[in-house]
Amino acid sequence: MEPFLRKQFGNPSGLYSIGREAQAGVDDARKRVADCLDARSSEILFTSGGTESINAAMLGIAYAMRRAGAGNHVITTAIEHHAGIHTAQYLEELGFDVTYLGCDPHGRVSTAEFAAALRPETVLASVMLANNEVGTVQPIAEIAAAIRDYATRRRHRVLLHTDAVQAPGWLPLAVDELRVDALSLSSHKFGGPKGSGILYLRRATPFRQLLHGGGQEMQKRAGTENVAGIVGTAAALEIASRGIGERSLRVRLLRERLRDGILARVPDVLVNGCQENCLPNNLNVSFAGIESDVLVAGLDARGVACSSGSACSNSTWEPSHVLMAMGVHIRQAVGSIRFSLGEDTTAEEIDAVLEMLPGEVAKAREGSLALAHPEAD
Ligand code: PLP
Repeated sequence: MEPFLRKQFGNPSGLYSIGREAQAGVDDARKRVADCLDARSSEILFTSGGTESINAAMLGIAYAMRRAGAGNHVITTAIEHHAGIHTAQYLEELGFDVTYLGCDPHGRVSTAEFAAALRPETVLASVMLANNEVGTVQPIAEIAAAIRDYATRRRHRVLLHTDAVQAPGWLPLAVDELRVDALSLSSHKFGGPKGSGILYLRRATPFRQLLHGGGQEMQKRAGTENVAGIVGTAAALEIASRGIGERSLRVRLLRERLRDGILARVPDVLVNGCQENCLPNNLNVSFAGIESDVLVAGLDARGVACSSGSACSNSTWEPSHVLMAMGVHIRQAVGSIRFSLGEDTTAEEIDAVLEMLPGEVAKAREGSLALAHPEAD
């Protein structure tokens, strides 16, 4: 990224030489991203992040399909990231009919339920590849096969988009194996710069752009390119795409060490999410009798950064929509914590967290408001 932040300030749309240098940087990045996804360069768009990619894919495909008279029904799931759920709600405002599929207690969406939701008016399905809160991996290739089966029988096209934001570095992302028509990625989830993302759009996918203006990104995403972000995105994705098997295995063992250590040391704990089909770096745990923000603050004070699955604002409890869809009791949901491991995480770090956790959980239980919460019963 550095040359494009320090000295190569050309605009890729400029015909002058420094503009052409910037364009060459973007072209090279597009080719490298395409190679990582087993796609063509012409199928890669650079965006401002996962949220934009998801919005562009869902709105752009649904709109183009409806305009072509193909229908107005969209299928998605109740456990998407808010970037997907809120876009689906916006599609409803625009007059689309949206089906929100539920999931099993492990956070898996059923392919049979998905197949049963397909209708002659269905134009788009958007199902995330891996859940950001509990790490459960969805059967995307099976869902794609269900679509293909339906499409062949009914001679009707349904496009499949997946929010794969959590997957790079942990799961293979060859688009022909996943059999998706569109796939969204966010650079900072795989070590790239924040505010940069990727949208893969399979050739000949009906699409109406989200951002209107100049002709950048093959007329599909107007606006001057974030050249440094794009170059950094490509470099990071290349690095993340190497050695996935070895990295996943190593980190999965650390995740299990953390999970089993917590279960052995802390009473009244529930592990959330599927333990087989899951991201190797994500562990979501509910501690009964706590409000998770209290524990997050306690761990943060000791140098451990983790996320809470619930948010308490103005005395209103907002348990995770994902855990609620999985049928987790609200009392467990408000006490859920997500630990995200990185490829640099060490066994010593896991052990240090295990060492401090019983005391921090006990403190959080004492100070917690969760038991006083009226809905908690
Ligand atoms: N989708 C998932 C699964 C995510 O985890 C995130 C970010 O956390 C997003 C979408 C949104 O990505 P961004 O913050 O780059 O817009």
